[in-house]
Amino acid sequence: MEGILNIVSNLLFWLTLMTGVVFTAIHGGMIVWTFRDMRARSRDVLALIVAVILVALIPLVGFVVYLMLRPRETLAEAYERSLEQEALLQAIEEPEVCPGCGQRVKSDYLYCPTCHTRLKRACPACGRPLHLRWALCPYCGASTASQVLEPVPAAPTERAPEEPPA
Ligand SMILES: [Zn+2]
Ligand SMILES: [Zn+2]
Repeated sequence: MEGILNIVSNLLFWLTLMTGVVFTAIHGGMIVWTFRDMRARSRDVLALIVAVILVALIPLVGFVVYLMLRPRETLAEAYERSLEQEALLQAIEEPEVCPGCGQRVKSDYLYCPTCHTRLKRACPACGRPLHLRWALCPYCGASTASQVLEPVPAAPTERAPEEPPA
């Protein structure tokens, strides 16, 4: 009888020990992960320390709270986004080049004077040059889609006779 009790208590001891080891390992992993993640998202040292302490002091719950409150973007993502915005601005401002012949063209040209490629179209409302892919005039707000998608008048549909002639 005592032997069985011994085995059970031994088993419980090892089970508790293993559980403790596993949880400690996971908790430690969470702390390290939080440190790395926060460092990738913020240059703020104080915020980094607060985040790590939060996760270290309140196991699991602190980690969940950190996941909810952490900065949405990593620094690399924010940098990439700023590069994209810059590229967009440059695309608007940079001198334009004809896609057909590579000659420089003015931004208000509708056609290339060298190769006659269509560069832009005039706004149907205010007449200013618009990019071919723009669906809306940025100057006056007129929709340019109506030029392409003309409403087709619905043709009167011939109705099949509902009742067969008797
Ligand atoms: Zn050209
Ligand atoms: Zn317009």
